[in-house]
Amino acid sequence: MDQKDRLTQIEDYQEFVGKETINRIREKAKPLAGKHVAHINSTFYGGGVAEMLSPLTLLMNSIGIKAEWKVIQGSPDFFSITKKMHNALQGADINLTTIKKDTYENVLFENAVRNRMDHDFVVVHDPQPLGIIKFYEKRQPWIWRCHVDLSSPNKVLFDYLRPYIQEYDAIILTLKEYKQDLKPPQAFFMPAINPFCVKNKKLSEKEMQGRFNHYGIPTDLPLVVQISRFDKWKDPEGVIEAFNIARKEVDAHLVLLGNIATDDPEGEKIYKNLLNLQDENITILSQQDSALVNALQSKAAVVLQKSLKEGFGLTVTEAMWKGAAVIGGKAGGIVHQIEDGVNGFLVSSVEEAAKRIVQILKDKNLKNKLGKEAKKTVKEKFLLIRYLEQYLDLFNSFETTYHLDLNKYKKNCVFDH
Ligand code: UDP
Repeated sequence: MDQKDRLTQIEDYQEFVGKETINRIREKAKPLAGKHVAHINSTFYGGGVAEMLSPLTLLMNSIGIKAEWKVIQGSPDFFSITKKMHNALQGADINLTTIKKDTYENVLFENAVRNRMDHDFVVVHDPQPLGIIKFYEKRQPWIWRCHVDLSSPNKVLFDYLRPYIQEYDAIILTLKEYKQDLKPPQAFFMPAINPFCVKNKKLSEKEMQGRFNHYGIPTDLPLVVQISRFDKWKDPEGVIEAFNIARKEVDAHLVLLGNIATDDPEGEKIYKNLLNLQDENITILSQQDSALVNALQSKAAVVLQKSLKEGFGLTVTEAMWKGAAVIGGKAGGIVHQIEDGVNGFLVSSVEEAAKRIVQILKDKNLKNKLGKEAKKTVKEKFLLIRYLEQYLDLFNSFETTYHLDLNKYKKNCVFDH
């Protein structure tokens, strides 16, 4: 096999988006051929950011952009602080001591020493590596791509981070609702999925059953599933409460599958606490197995993503792609992914979640109807090819002075902004 054939090509998306879109993207890629782009984040796996960076950087390479993916290294102290920052950006309190700030800044300084940036564009993802910009002499446009729910950031933290953010030449947020009062121009990209990977491609019945057998997941009862990092904002306890109410009326088996990202020190404790809530109809698993994620999302009678805060729920899109009936928390990006009652349900409480679980389990037609619409939504709006095009539009809108011409970007960009 030719090495190039191993990469997904944009033409592979033609069956979903049509030839015209592919041609348009090829044209937009031409001025960027040979450009070096560095993406920087803080974990190589676990969570939506790593999930997207992996195929996005490859897809960029497939169209001639030399895209790299760098992961910053940090001590457990550093990741404990950055997790607190992540939580505070989503509205939690934080005790921002001098020690914490020094640790944050020192680790980023050390990473800057180890990583030279002679690229044409630098894209920094999320708060963990945000401040690294201070330790470089800027020679190219720097873009901060923030994936978290910024609807009500903690003010103390935001004031601390603001001087770093102001250094950037552009900011990408997930939704217009997250817009902040900042100097750099702000663009809005909703995340998207790679339909060709093990997690999202069509699996055979045998492959799916193989995963269930391997983990001892029973399939005689309808499956109710939530797949998420073990994180308080994903409300795993709320999912169990909702399931416990629903099971009084319907027979089902709940599976909570989670993983623990390398930059998330809180996950282990949350997982251990949840284990106490297991019983014969509740399975709680901590595993990194993309085929299992796929099998569960494909087979489930109901997929929940009962988040209380959510920048954008990649898991919601993944499940919708498989035609699942999805119940999402009415929070952050999820309200842009699910249209209540059309391609899934939005809920604001445990009781509402329980009611929707029962309703879907009792009505197979409803599941099929929601699932069909859900798949259509993803095909139209949430495939990685759209995300790639947004990056091309943004890169193509920079002038040599690293200044992002927002008007040019708006003209370039075919998407709503
Ligand atoms: N994920 C996974 N295994 C798990 C839990 C999550 O592979 O046990 C993946 C999930 O399929 C999705 C990503 O991690 O691709 C989570 O992204 P999302 O945007 O839903 O949440 P985040 O973790 O970024 O807050």
